[in-house]
Amino acid sequence: MENKFAKWGLKGQKEATVTIRDILETIKKQVKKDDEKPMIHLGHGDPSAYSCFRTTPVAEEAVNRALRSAKFNGYAPAAGLPESRRAVAEFLSKDLPYKLSEEDIFITAGAAHAIELILTVLARPGANILLPRPGYPSYEAHSTFLDQEVRNFDLLPEKGWEIDLDGVEALADDNTVAMVVINPGNPSGSVFTPEHLQKIAETAKRLGIVLISDEVYYDLVFGGNKFVPMGVFGSVTPVVSLGTMSKRWLVPGWRLGWIALSDPNGILKRTGITDCIKKYRNISPDSTTLIQGAIPEILEKTPKDFISNIVVLLREAAEACYSNIIEIPYLDSPQKPEGAMSTMVKLNLDMLEGIEDDMDFCLRLAKEESVLVLPGSVLGLKNWLRISFATDVASLEEGLQRIKAFCLRHSNMIM
Ligand SMILES: *Cc1c(COP(=O)(O)O)cnc(C)c1O
Repeated sequence: MENKFAKWGLKGQKEATVTIRDILETIKKQVKKDDEKPMIHLGHGDPSAYSCFRTTPVAEEAVNRALRSAKFNGYAPAAGLPESRRAVAEFLSKDLPYKLSEEDIFITAGAAHAIELILTVLARPGANILLPRPGYPSYEAHSTFLDQEVRNFDLLPEKGWEIDLDGVEALADDNTVAMVVINPGNPSGSVFTPEHLQKIAETAKRLGIVLISDEVYYDLVFGGNKFVPMGVFGSVTPVVSLGTMSKRWLVPGWRLGWIALSDPNGILKRTGITDCIKKYRNISPDSTTLIQGAIPEILEKTPKDFISNIVVLLREAAEACYSNIIEIPYLDSPQKPEGAMSTMVKLNLDMLEGIEDDMDFCLRLAKEESVLVLPGSVLGLKNWLRISFATDVASLEEGLQRIKAFCLRHSNMIM
């Protein structure tokens, strides 16, 4: 039969993109409504679902004050309110060997928007971008929509998830525009040493590519390594860092993030990248003016113990997560998480009867145990799982016990 729509000649071209949201929706459909076994979500990175992860009253009051002042009901300049840009510059400069100015900061609608903005600005016909594997799928999905070729370099589990820098050099060519680093690591939970960060910066410099540093977890670290922002190496190579209120202040719904240009040598300016960011920012949607109005007070007044308390909660959760996982012989955990809100574990499928792969594992786990975890294949690592631990410890332990029960039920080992 003749296709009556053929004359339109249209086709959704990008059906190949996968996002965490899509996959979790699919897995969630398997969960049975069961009051005995309420669903435990170890799949996403939204801590605000748990009452122990509530933002500081300082932030709530700042938004309240901004609202009542009636000063933030209009449009903000495209790059953000000057006072908000200045406040972010000051906040970030505390950890840098030089000062950022208001001009170096662009306010965005969360880090997700910052990702879109910088990838769009750098895209050009024939270009390619280097992304980590395992990684954060938004980068790849945007690149697909931009017709930007993606080349994946490996993070090495046996080396604390450090970047395989020889692999990076081998992948890059004259059409490579940028590489992405996520530190503290999502999904790996790793925190890079200053020595490794310096090597990364030197590699980017040698290749003449932009170094995009996703630092949405910033100082939410709880292992041996202190968090060092990539901008510290801005004089080695220009660094575009991405930040957000979502994770550090536990308010992903507020949609406020930023791009910070750490480029004391002015390379991004000279090459026209800075101008292009300004132009694209002019035509892309804004973060709400209200939250922008609150950010100076939030950054200035957030008490230190608010952050240290979140770090304590995350450390406890990470330890509970790791100690439960190493008790489950069907899962291998190469490293105890040291930062951020998730960890990667490898599935020993040889020991499990009739489970095909990571996706099959996650679907059946949701169906039988009402526990959601993310299959590693979404992140580029087949037959691994990403477990998010930004939950209260009781739910986390219950979730891991159910994973253990599930594995035992499907075991082919004689125990
Ligand atoms: C959560 C997250 C983002 C997105 O942050 P939003 O500010 O909520 O848009 C970006 N990158 C990584 C690695 C994340 O974990």
